[in-house]
Amino acid sequence: MRIDLHTHSTASDGTQSPADVIAASKKAKLGMVALTDHDTTAGWEEAVGAAVREGIRLVRGIEISCSRAHRSIHLLGYLPNPDDPRLVIELARARDSRVSRMDRMVERMAADGIPVSVEGVRAQLAPGATLGRPHLADALAAAGVVADRDEAFRDLLHDGSKYYVGHYAPDPVAAIRLVRGAGGVPVLAHPFATRGATVTDELVEELAAAGLAGLEVHHRDHTKADVERALRLARRHGLVVTGSSDYHGTGKLNRLGERTTEPRQWSRIVEQSSGVKVVEP
Ligand code: AMP
Ligand code: FE
Ligand code: FE
Ligand code: ZN
Repeated sequence: MRIDLHTHSTASDGTQSPADVIAASKKAKLGMVALTDHDTTAGWEEAVGAAVREGIRLVRGIEISCSRAHRSIHLLGYLPNPDDPRLVIELARARDSRVSRMDRMVERMAADGIPVSVEGVRAQLAPGATLGRPHLADALAAAGVVADRDEAFRDLLHDGSKYYVGHYAPDPVAAIRLVRGAGGVPVLAHPFATRGATVTDELVEELAAAGLAGLEVHHRDHTKADVERALRLARRHGLVVTGSSDYHGTGKLNRLGERTTEPRQWSRIVEQSSGVKVVEP
């Protein structure tokens, strides 16, 4: 069975609805797919209906944006209880902060004469979705400022840009405890994706001690050396090894199923979960 444990829909910064992500997953011959939108479970309900219709196993998940020493770290959480009060509060706090952060980014750009407005960004967003820089990128593309998301990030929206503003994000240790507290299973997303080593060996050790279950080893943003390093760390700390596409529809080049997770590794994850169940068609 082909398993892809990391995808995004219009509930965050993917370009396809949850139902369309599920249909596309079936077409890509996946036997199991995880929907892991940024800081939200809003896409779950629609995805469940689609998974049952399409006949594909669905893993309900999230990707929590975390921050440590001004560096962004992403934590995947599989099968957490979406009604866990602490999880609900923390995700809402992060999403709210993303709204005021966007206001400030738009303000800075508008002050520099870039034709962008809060309304223009809002127009790129599905109702209830987690707001992110990709929506600002889409607004810039719609205004003809850039050709696409990639150009927007390269020229204007990257972390080092003068227009960049951060948002509230929990420390990864707090996020691991949050996911575990909700019965979910935390896996560190693309640990070495950002050039210049976002994540040190020492941080992986600290997170493993805090309850981290796995590392997303196989990811298109990892070089061969990154993969080898991640495999070494996973072995050292007894962590599950996953692989996934990080699909964003047409928002990124990533294709469904381009990296996959071994069923044996998935079973190590599911046996640690006590939140919600895998949706079986
Ligand atoms: P934010 O969470 O608002 O800080 O935005 C980060 C998101 O932007 C990540 O989840 C990525 O999916 C997306 N992103 C980063 N770089 C690019 C890029 N070059 N092209 C498209 N999307 C990107
Ligand atoms: Fe994203
Ligand atoms: Fe990510
Ligand atoms: Zn992602």
